[in-house]
Amino acid sequence: MSLKKTGNITNTLLFRLTVLYAGIFTLSTLLILILFYFKLHTVTMKDLDEEFLGEVDRYSTIMIEKGLEGVKNEIAGQAEREDPEEEFSRLLTFQGEVLISTDISSWGAVEKSESLETLRSGDAPYVFQSRDAPDTDYRARVITAPIGPDVVVQIGETLEEAEDYLQIFLNWFLFLFFIMIVLSSLTGWFMARRALLDMEDVTETALEISKGDYDRRVQVKDRFNEIKRLGSTFNTMLDRIQSLLKSTREVNANIAHDLRSPLTRIRGIAEMSLMNDKSVEEYKGVAASTIEECDRLIEIVNTMLEITEAESGISEPRIEVLDVAPLIREACDLFQPIASEKKIEIVESLPAELTFHGDRKKLQRIISNLLDNAIKYTPEGGAVSITAGTESNRINIAFEDTGIGIPDSDLPHIFERFYQGDKSRSLGGVGLGLSLVKAFTEAMKGTVSVFSTVHKGSRFVVTFPQ
Ligand code: ADP
Repeated sequence: MSLKKTGNITNTLLFRLTVLYAGIFTLSTLLILILFYFKLHTVTMKDLDEEFLGEVDRYSTIMIEKGLEGVKNEIAGQAEREDPEEEFSRLLTFQGEVLISTDISSWGAVEKSESLETLRSGDAPYVFQSRDAPDTDYRARVITAPIGPDVVVQIGETLEEAEDYLQIFLNWFLFLFFIMIVLSSLTGWFMARRALLDMEDVTETALEISKGDYDRRVQVKDRFNEIKRLGSTFNTMLDRIQSLLKSTREVNANIAHDLRSPLTRIRGIAEMSLMNDKSVEEYKGVAASTIEECDRLIEIVNTMLEITEAESGISEPRIEVLDVAPLIREACDLFQPIASEKKIEIVESLPAELTFHGDRKKLQRIISNLLDNAIKYTPEGGAVSITAGTESNRINIAFEDTGIGIPDSDLPHIFERFYQGDKSRSLGGVGLGLSLVKAFTEAMKGTVSVFSTVHKGSRFVVTFPQ
């Protein structure tokens, strides 16, 4: 895969990381090379000065051994041997009188009075000076030092050899420096590209998804921890989006289906009323049926809104101290007539008092929905029991019935909106009851669980923190 061009190249992370990496690497290399060069320069110059001092020592020894004449002979011999433009030597008195000298005409005016003054005052045992060498760009070094009573030697030498030697190093350093710039840019580009290629995978996947390929996932590579995390987070997000999309599609289909039936019925009723003349009583009947169907529609829409509000946190639960026992008893009393009609016995097993912090209306809806289901899905002559109690700081309310039970294949779906078991469709519900129970329970930080065996019965348990 190649990194796609993203407009202005200077705005790309690849470019900036490469420049940053190359910049840091180059600057570090430059600093090391400069430090190294200065150290080399200092050492070379120190060596040279020591050579000068060695030369002065040599003259001192000749002075001791052979006297002033010996030194003069030595300088005379030197004048014949050495190139006067590269080196000169001369003997002076402390007053500046020249005793003997090699040819220094090419050196121009060679300073002596200041150095002699320093030596006379005893401030330093010798004096070093730097100056330009004759007729070249090289620099030169001059030492002035006493070698006997009122005898001072002055030696000057160009630094051609040392400077040539340092220049070779400088050239190598420059060469190395440019090689480093190229190498660090290439390495920086390579490193940044490696990291960004993995990121590019995420972008590519996002692009594919934006075109509708929701099954695509990022290949999570083990190379960089941060990118690995980005990839897995992205994949988790995609899983969630996909499941949300799936459930939204299902809910939409279910809404369409469940709204269509009452609407079709309303239309049918209206059509029938137009067909032939009817009595006032018959028209009243038609109106009543229409109202009934409309109520059913309104109830569906209201319940959906309630679920959505509870799930999204728009309707915050109104928390108060509640005694659960009387609420359950009230609900049982309310459902007693329907239960009696089906010869179903409702058994309560409740403590005298069971308090917790919750929303009264929401808890009432949870209890009535679960009780309603228990009675609805229990055949004649069965039993429904409600038990409530506390267990390790939690309140449990259990609804148990001896009804038709729920097949294992339905269990994972019963809390989804509009989901109805096959055998339940004829029983009048719309499949929103348990969704509402779940949304309200979770809004009060509780959980709802179900255990069921087909043909034996079901047990729904809602648990809240006390
Ligand atoms: P419905 O309006 O169909 O009752 P619910 O959301 O209340 O919708 O329940 C969803 C499905 O769960 C029901 O259609 C039914 O198949 C199953 N169900 C719920 N409660 C019980 C129960 N006590 N016994 C057997 N099946 C149940």
